[in-house]
Amino acid sequence: MSRPGRTVDVLVVGAGPAGLAAAARLAGAGAGAVEIVEREQQAGGIPRHCGHGGFGPRELRRPMSGPQYARRLVDDAVRAGADLRTGVTVTGWSGPRALDTTSPAGLERITARAVVLATGARERPRSARLVPGTRPAGVLTTGELQQEVHLHGRRVGSRAIVVGAEPIAFSAVRTLRAAGVEVVAMVTDQARRPPHPLLSRRVPLLTGATVTELTGRGRLTGVGLRHLDGRTVTVGCDTVVFTGDWIPDHELARRGGIPLDPGTRGPAVDTAFRTAEAGVFAVGNLLHGVEPAGTAAEEGRYVADQVLRHLAGATWPDGGLRLQVAGPLQWVAPNRIAPDGPRPLRDRFLLRTGESLARPVLVVSQDGRVLRRQRLLRTALSGRGLHLRADWFGRADARGGPVEITAY
Ligand SMILES: Cc1cc2nc3c(=O)[nH]c(=O)nc-3n(C[C@H](O)[C@H](O)[C@H](O)COP(=O)(O)OP(=O)(O)OC[C@H]3O[C@@H](n4cnc5c(N)ncnc54)[C@H](O)[C@@H]3O)c2cc1C
Repeated sequence: MSRPGRTVDVLVVGAGPAGLAAAARLAGAGAGAVEIVEREQQAGGIPRHCGHGGFGPRELRRPMSGPQYARRLVDDAVRAGADLRTGVTVTGWSGPRALDTTSPAGLERITARAVVLATGARERPRSARLVPGTRPAGVLTTGELQQEVHLHGRRVGSRAIVVGAEPIAFSAVRTLRAAGVEVVAMVTDQARRPPHPLLSRRVPLLTGATVTELTGRGRLTGVGLRHLDGRTVTVGCDTVVFTGDWIPDHELARRGGIPLDPGTRGPAVDTAFRTAEAGVFAVGNLLHGVEPAGTAAEEGRYVADQVLRHLAGATWPDGGLRLQVAGPLQWVAPNRIAPDGPRPLRDRFLLRTGESLARPVLVVSQDGRVLRRQRLLRTALSGRGLHLRADWFGRADARGGPVEITAY
């Protein structure tokens, strides 16, 4: 089917904090025609349905609710001159920087001098976690829960179990309580209790427990759990919320043949958030699952400066060195470097560990040569970001093998 085509200078895909912040900075800096497309009817990304506070304390100097924060970023982007189009989904590519869109107004092809992918991440649903049992109503992810409660004002149930104990799991607890739902327990397969103020407010937490089964016909009636010692129990409830376990929304990147990082499963990017495809950048939760909204927005502003450099004619690097991690570390982002390239945002790399580590030492090495040892002064918790300083960066050999990061 033929499509009408248009050309812009920068096309930003996804109007969450990362995309909106990138577009605001680009439009404000005179990058030319900057367009953001968003598949939802309203822009703002995840914060739009987070009806709780905790957004923007550092960057905007005052804490806001998610919807307030989303409105603020939308206003900033539009005021700076970005063209924001909602209800528009990017479905694929017809060239290296030519994207196909669909919307109620029809099909279109938009070609850009630079593309910024900011499509976010989503939680792995029950089906992808391969939890056996029946298929009753009442099984949600945090995102679905927030949308039911905060966007649609629907009742979700009366007794809930929250699976997970990362920060997002506590958002789920808050939302359930605000909706009048009793939280029967939080369940984590981690052996340690994560420190969190809500835990001291009597949220029962079961550590070292795995969900083995969901029961109930029509509506959920219980969740089967297995403890580390092999004991099994069924806890009665009508709602279960699976939290965390993020998958970057990488379909569009994959369709464009953009190589992904095996750890993050988002596009592999260098310290300027450049993918392997010239002129295509990626930013925000698409790169690393869920971090605070301020981090996504900060990455958006940082990528804008890199996009401006590209528009001004900077050469696109040829791959660079791969950064890789060894267990218990799960991933690092950004995950490619050019030793003479730009330093990463805030001069540090973001890492995730699969198990909590008390004051670990991070070791960076290349071809057996140690480039840097860094001791962290706090416990690195599973499921939360930890940072590695980038001061070893220039010591890596551009012609050497991959740079490896380990922790002990
Ligand atoms: C339950 C929950 C609670 C949270 N609480 C907090 C908190 O208290 N404080 C805090 O700082 N952070 C919080 N966060 C994290 C914060 O919301 C995210 O880090 C932030 O929204 C990430 O921004 P993003 O722009 O990368 O992605 P998103 O916000 O996910 O935005 C991505 C956008 O891209 C759009 N999109 C995707 N694919 C396409 C396509 N093909 N075409 C067009 N559009 C597309 C999506 O519709 C979406 O709007 C929370 C997150 C969750 C899930």
